[in-house]
Amino acid sequence: MIMAPETLDGTLAPVRHVLLDFDGPVCSVFAGFSAGDVARSLAALLSGPDGAPPGHEESDPLAMLRRIAETREDLVSAADSHLTQLEVEAVERARPTPGGVAFMEACAATGRSVWVVSNNATAAIDRYLSDHGLRDLVAGTFGRTAGRPESMKPSPELLIAAMRAADAKPGECLFIGDAVRDVEAAHAADMKTIGYANKPGKADALSAAGAVAVVTSMETLAASVT
Ligand SMILES: [Mg+2]
Repeated sequence: MIMAPETLDGTLAPVRHVLLDFDGPVCSVFAGFSAGDVARSLAALLSGPDGAPPGHEESDPLAMLRRIAETREDLVSAADSHLTQLEVEAVERARPTPGGVAFMEACAATGRSVWVVSNNATAAIDRYLSDHGLRDLVAGTFGRTAGRPESMKPSPELLIAAMRAADAKPGECLFIGDAVRDVEAAHAADMKTIGYANKPGKADALSAAGAVAVVTSMETLAASVT
């Protein structure tokens, strides 16, 4: 299903550079090593004489990292590097998103470059791309900046970095993401977003946040790239 298909075509036409979120449009990062298990592992690694880290009850390890950054600056560096290792483990069992590769191939075939922009660690993203033979389809990878969780979306920082690397203007770029924070980050970078609604209820949330179009299948989106 596509919402506003005429908008989808019109949105894709001027795009030279596609910025692509990782967890969702490319793969399900925590399909095999669940987000809850990763979060519990991270909390255990960071627990010490002071007790458990802030956000230890979170089932989303990235949310825990944000919580740590809010009140325990001293723990951020260790938290980020432990989480990076856990994400690298997780991507070994990640589940590819149907149509994700077809979408990247369609971009390549039509002369569009693809840049992965993600709150996940760059090392984990690069591992996944290598393991799945996708390196040639990606111009660059912009994961969260190590030790700086504030670089994560909804900050536009990573999108702006990718846009600079592409030597592009916002109007030549498009962001594809599956979370409201993706739409917010793109908006802050003056860039349009197509939402990928991979779960019930997400389509409305992505549209309400300002996505110019929403798809429920990356295969559909791949077929729209001409
Ligand atoms: Mg995502």
